[in-house]
Amino acid sequence: MLKIITNNPQETENLGYKLGKTLEAGDIICLIGDLGAGKTTLTKSIAKGLDIDDYITSPTFTLIKEYEGRYPLYHFDVYRINDVDEMYDLGYEEYIFGEGVSIIEWANIIDDILPKEKLIIDIKRKDINKREINIYGEGNRYKEIIKELS
Ligand code: ADP
Ligand code: MG
Repeated sequence: MLKIITNNPQETENLGYKLGKTLEAGDIICLIGDLGAGKTTLTKSIAKGLDIDDYITSPTFTLIKEYEGRYPLYHFDVYRINDVDEMYDLGYEEYIFGEGVSIIEWANIIDDILPKEKLIIDIKRKDINKREINIYGEGNRYKEIIKELS
């Protein structure tokens, strides 16, 4: 586990950019944290690290948005999902077991259908600009990523 405190959005973005640089096809990043924690902020900076220039917005009404970078990025936001069946209807396995990088905001909601091996990033809002970010690597690939971030 890696614990990082950031004191402003830029510091969180620096972390995301660095993470984005380390990512490879098939990686799965799960983001957990309340509204306003910084999940989308982090996603945007991960996308930059993947050489994605598009403007990233939260896919709240579509469940998923796809971008092209060094790898495809599949950006999920499952906050408004009513049932995990919606993930099956979407064919989500094609994405998360595909050739791109998946980032899932509110991943805790669909934890039951996610693979065991993944990177989990839990963001806690401590103050207006302060965040506690706990990163857990489940599986060797993700422990490796944590080493690269440390
Ligand atoms: P979420 O997707 O988790 O709902 P957002 O990324 O959309 O959250 O919003 C987070 C908000 O908090 C942004 O307005 C961002 O500028 C602000 N913020 C303030 N401090 C930080 C920080 N240290 N890290 C990330 N975001 C921060
Ligand atoms: Mg968001």
